[in-house]
Amino acid sequence: MELPSPEQTPSLDELWRSLLPLGFHRASGGYRRFAWNKADLACRAWFTAQAADRGLTVRTDRNGNQWAWWGERLPGKALAIGSHLDSVPDGGAYDGPLGVVSSFAAVDLLREAGWKPERPVAIANFADEEGARFGVACAGSRLLTGQLEPDRARALTDDSGVTLAAAMEAAGQDPDVIGRDDELLGRIGQYVELHIEQGRALVDVGRAVGVATSIWPHGRWRFEFGGEANHAGTTRLEDRRDPMLTYAYTVLAARKKAAAHGALATFGRILVEPNGTNAIPSKVSAWLDSRAPDEATLTALLAELEEAARERAGRDGASLSVVNESLTPIVEFDHALRDRLAKTLDEAPVLPTGAGHDAGILAGRIPTAMLFVRNPTGVSHSPAEHAEIADCRAGVHALARAVSELAGGSARLGAAW
Ligand SMILES: [Zn+2]
Repeated sequence: MELPSPEQTPSLDELWRSLLPLGFHRASGGYRRFAWNKADLACRAWFTAQAADRGLTVRTDRNGNQWAWWGERLPGKALAIGSHLDSVPDGGAYDGPLGVVSSFAAVDLLREAGWKPERPVAIANFADEEGARFGVACAGSRLLTGQLEPDRARALTDDSGVTLAAAMEAAGQDPDVIGRDDELLGRIGQYVELHIEQGRALVDVGRAVGVATSIWPHGRWRFEFGGEANHAGTTRLEDRRDPMLTYAYTVLAARKKAAAHGALATFGRILVEPNGTNAIPSKVSAWLDSRAPDEATLTALLAELEEAARERAGRDGASLSVVNESLTPIVEFDHALRDRLAKTLDEAPVLPTGAGHDAGILAGRIPTAMLFVRNPTGVSHSPAEHAEIADCRAGVHALARAVSELAGGSARLGAAW
C-alpha cells in the first residue's frame, strides 16, 4: 500500500476554497475569526460539514473543542491530529487552519490509498486558541487539561463587555459544564499538530516539513523608569533627570544581550508620562517580551539587562523597577514521539519554536508532537503570512505518513513518493 504522489492531494484545494472566505476582512486583507463570533461559528459549521461529508462523527466536548472521529469504536486510545480555526486580529490564512485542513486532506489521502486505522483517529478544532477576544490564549485546551479555572474562564470579558460564559451560551454551548475533562483526555493517546512555521528555520535548511523539539520558555516584564518632569526648553541638559534616556539605552542593551545569548527580546509597548512634546518625561513604563532556548539563558539575560539598565539609570538620575508579569516554562515535546516522526519523515529537521500552541498545553498530560510547514518569509500573525501550495501538499503527505505510522499498527504505508 502506498500513498499517491504529493501532487495528488485533490481535496486540499477544495478544503481551502471553502474555508478561505469565512471571516475574511476585505479592508485589512486578514482574518477576524475570534472565539464564538459569527466568523468563528461559520468556521465551526464548516468543520462539522467537512466531517459529515467524510462520514466522521463530530462531537463537541464540554469546553467547546470540536472532534471529528474516524473509527471511534476501534480499540485503544485515539491518535488526535488537528489545530485551531480562530485567528488573531487581521491574522493570516494559515496559522491554525492549515493544521485542520491538512488533517481532513490526510484522511482523504489515506482512504484513497485503501488504508484503515487500527485505533481511533480524531481531528480536533481547539476553541479559542489565540485568545484574541477574551485575552487567554489556548483557552479550550487549558480548560480541557485543567490549566484554566472554570470560574475565571466564565468571567473573562471581551472589549464590549460580553463574558465568555454569555458568548458560549449564545452559541448553544453550556458554560456551566466547562472544566477539566479527564474522561476525554483518557481516550487520547497522542496529539500531533501540524502548523505553519512562525519563523524561517525550514527555509535555512531547505526542507518543506520539520518536527518541533520544544517551545521556548518566555515571559513578560514591566520596566518602570522614573525621572522628573520639566520644561524641554528651559532645563539645562546637565540638570535633567530624563527616564527616556535610560529607556532608550535599555532597548538597545536588550537587543545586544539577546543576540549574544541566542535569545529574543522585544520592547513593543510603552507608556510615557506626561507624554508632552515639550516636556521631559516623569515616567516611562515599558513592557519587555523575552524568549530563550532554555530557562537559565532567559534568567541570565534578564539579570544582565536589569543590571545594565540600573547602571545607566544611575548616570541619568533616574529610578528603575522591574516586575515580572508572566513566565511560562519550557515545553519539551515527547522525545520518543518526536524522534519517531522525524525518522518516519525521512530524517525531517527538528527545530524549536518561540510561539505557544495547544500542543504545548496538552504536552503536560499526553505525548504531543508538532509538524511545521515551511513559511518562506517567516511572517505570521499578519495578512502576509504564506505557505507555498507545494509545501502544503508535502505537509498533508507528512501528516498522512505520521498517522499511518502511529495509528496503523502493522498497516504502515510505504513512502515511495
Ligand atoms: Zn496557531
